[in-house]
Amino acid sequence: MRRKLIVGNWKMHGSQQQVRQLLQDMESKAGELSEDVEIGVCPTYVHIADLVAARSSDRIMLGAQNVHAEPEGAFTGEVSAPMLADYGLHFVIVGHSERREIFGESDQLISEKFIAVQKSKMVPILCVGETLLQREAGETEEVVLRQLDVVIDAAGIEAFADSVLAYEPVWAIGTGKTASPEQAQQVHKVLREHLAKQSPDIAGAVRILYGGSVKSANSDELFAQADIDGGLVGGASLQAEEFISICKSAD
Ligand code: PEP
Repeated sequence: MRRKLIVGNWKMHGSQQQVRQLLQDMESKAGELSEDVEIGVCPTYVHIADLVAARSSDRIMLGAQNVHAEPEGAFTGEVSAPMLADYGLHFVIVGHSERREIFGESDQLISEKFIAVQKSKMVPILCVGETLLQREAGETEEVVLRQLDVVIDAAGIEAFADSVLAYEPVWAIGTGKTASPEQAQQVHKVLREHLAKQSPDIAGAVRILYGGSVKSANSDELFAQADIDGGLVGGASLQAEEFISICKSAD
């Protein structure tokens, strides 16, 4: 039985005061949820230390949105996995489409980041997803399986026992367009079946989140799908009440 997981990606939003308040509001509403659902949020690097100190419990896990692949060195402006692990972070998002598209991250680099996160005993949330052009060309499965295979080849199938996958169609991120529950389920099933070819046990246990304009108005239907184990939520995670409503859909 896979426990549902909802993770908020706060992206580059919020002042110190705003993110403190947001976490506090989420913490006070999280009491309305059962322990059956795991929840987390990923603030910017600069807010992590403050939120670790300010939070009142670890009911809402904290993660990072990115990481450098090397543990230390002359990489001006970057942050390493051991540095994030020092703050007790639970997970790190790797391969978000904004990192792939805006910052030009390759599948290879993403696999190195995935390995770096695990070396520091945190859980990578590996994002895969196709663009609209790729979907329209009928390439969705080929694209997401290629993105997944590069990481399997580099890290090994066993690494997926301690990781989370997120299917995020690029055309649905921040656009208000959501994949239909059927469209999302189809891709989640393909991803799980692909992992099952190498390890049925790992495939059965790994959580595959859906991301792309998730909101409380569509989360019930999405999370009811057999292979959707929760959500990676961008915009809607910036409002405590809306985020907790989404979490309730998974409860
Ligand atoms: C995301 O950033 O991972 C995301 C899914 O964003 P949104 O929910 O805003 O589409």
